[in-house]
Amino acid sequence: MNKNFNMASRQRKYNIDNANSKQKRLDELQPPPYFSTQNGYCKFSYRGVVVERAQGAYQIGRRIVISGFPVASVDGMWTDSSMLKRTIDLGLEQACPERHKAVMEQYRNWKCPSCGSVALVDSKDIHVKWNYVVDSWGKEERVDTGIKLLTCNYCSEEVDSSDIPYVSSDVFL
Ligand SMILES: [Zn+2]
Repeated sequence: MNKNFNMASRQRKYNIDNANSKQKRLDELQPPPYFSTQNGYCKFSYRGVVVERAQGAYQIGRRIVISGFPVASVDGMWTDSSMLKRTIDLGLEQACPERHKAVMEQYRNWKCPSCGSVALVDSKDIHVKWNYVVDSWGKEERVDTGIKLLTCNYCSEEVDSSDIPYVSSDVFL
């Protein structure tokens, strides 16, 4: 083996190890986020049906309002994700296609550009961006900027809600 090549690959390995341990130290310093992902909690849309995942179990996260969908078939807690996915698929086959289309547009997923998490675009995560200014009396007041921000539940990143990075809801998370 070429000696230079060997040194280069050793340097690369050193760089990777160093980067990993740096990241690890950073992780240890960082306080746990307010919304913990430790239980694998996630709320997402699967083809317009809102599903909640927590501690390895799944349940429907929001009442299904698609006419024709046999709502009772997806009741309760599910530990087998592929079985729930199949049951939802079957239910949607019986559902009104127009209504399904409308609900799919209502319940969409987005991918956080910062941490890569995929989650439901939930109206409770959208809030007004305020500007804090001091008025002529020296009192602080807040001014509505007209911008609404969507907050990532995993890393607190905020994106402009008029420019949400949507992703498909065809994948069962
Ligand atoms: Zn994030």
